[in-house]
Amino acid sequence: MTAKTIDGKLAAEKLRQGIAAEVAQLVAKNGRKPGLVVILVGDDPASKVYVANKAKQTDEVGMNSIENRLPVTTSEAELLSLVESYNRDPMIDGILVQLPLPSHIDSAKVLTAIAPDKDVDGFHAVNVGRLWTGDPRALVPCTPSGSMILLRSVLPDLSGAEAVVIGRSNIVGKPMAALLLAANCSVSVVHSRSQNLPSLVKRGDIVIAAVGKADMVKGDWLKPGAIVIDVGINRLVTAEGKARLTGDCDYESCQQVAGAITPVPGGVGPMTIACLLQNTLLSYRMRLA
Ligand code: NAD
Repeated sequence: MTAKTIDGKLAAEKLRQGIAAEVAQLVAKNGRKPGLVVILVGDDPASKVYVANKAKQTDEVGMNSIENRLPVTTSEAELLSLVESYNRDPMIDGILVQLPLPSHIDSAKVLTAIAPDKDVDGFHAVNVGRLWTGDPRALVPCTPSGSMILLRSVLPDLSGAEAVVIGRSNIVGKPMAALLLAANCSVSVVHSRSQNLPSLVKRGDIVIAAVGKADMVKGDWLKPGAIVIDVGINRLVTAEGKARLTGDCDYESCQQVAGAITPVPGGVGPMTIACLLQNTLLSYRMRLA
C-alpha cells in the first residue's frame, strides 16, 4: 500500500480563501475589519519569521494586522499593561503573544491576562474548559484545529474510530484529544512514560504524532490503512550541511503502511496560521452578535 498524501498547503489555501470571502462580506456590512494583534518580545529569529508570516496572511484575507515588537528588556508589568489595553480596544478581536517569552516574564501570567474572547491561540484556561465541555464559544488551539480539518478531509465521519495521540502538551496533545473525543473517537493519549509505544500506536485507526522526535514512529508501528497526522517539526542538518525539516514519523516506512499521511513540510504546518485567522474571524463574529 502507498498512502495518500494529505496536502496541507492546498487545504490551508482553501481555508484562507473561505475566510477572505466571509471577511469581505462582513466588512461590507459592518464597516470594520477584524483586527489581530501579534506581540513579540525580543529578537528570537524563528519567532520573527512566524510573526512576519502571520502578519502577511492576516492582511491577505482582508483583516487588520497589528505587529507590536517590543525590546527584550520589556518588563512583565509593561507587557501586562499592553495586553490589558488591547483587551479594552474595540478594534481588536484577537490577541496573540508570541512564545517563547524572555525568561524574566511569566508566560502563564501573560496568557491568563488575555481576555478569553480575544484569546485566538486558545491557551487560556477558560477556552480549555469551554473546549472540554463542548461550549461553542471555545477558541480552540490552532494546530489541533488544523489537524482535525486534514483528518476529516480523508475521513469525514470519525465516529467509533480508535485514535492514538502521541504527546500530551497543552498546545497540541491535550486539545487534540478533546477534539477527537468530541468527534466520537475512542482516544488514547500516550507519552514519554508510556510502556511499549509501538503496540499502543498499532491500535490506532488514526495516529496523531506530536512529540518533537525526528522520525520516531516507524511504519511497522502502524495498523495497515491508518491515517497519520504528523504534527512534529524537527530541524535536522544533512551530511552536506544543509538544513532539513522532518516530522515525528518516518515518512518512507509509514507511507508503505498508512492509508493517508501528512508530509513534513507541507502538512499540518500551513494549517496553523490559517486556523489562527479562522479563530480571529470567530472572535469578530461573536463580538458582532
Ligand atoms: P512538547 O515538547 O510540549 O510535548 C511533547 C510531548 O511528547 C510530551 O507530552 C511528551 O510526553 C511526549 N514525548 C516526548 N518524548 C516521547 C517519547 N519518546 N515517546 C512518546 N512521547 C514522548 O511539544 P509540543 O509543543 O506538543 O510539540 C510537539 C511537536 O509538534 C514539536 O515537534 C513541535 O515543533 C511541533 N509543533 C508543530 C506545530 C505546527 O504548526 N505544525 C505547532 C506546534 C508544535
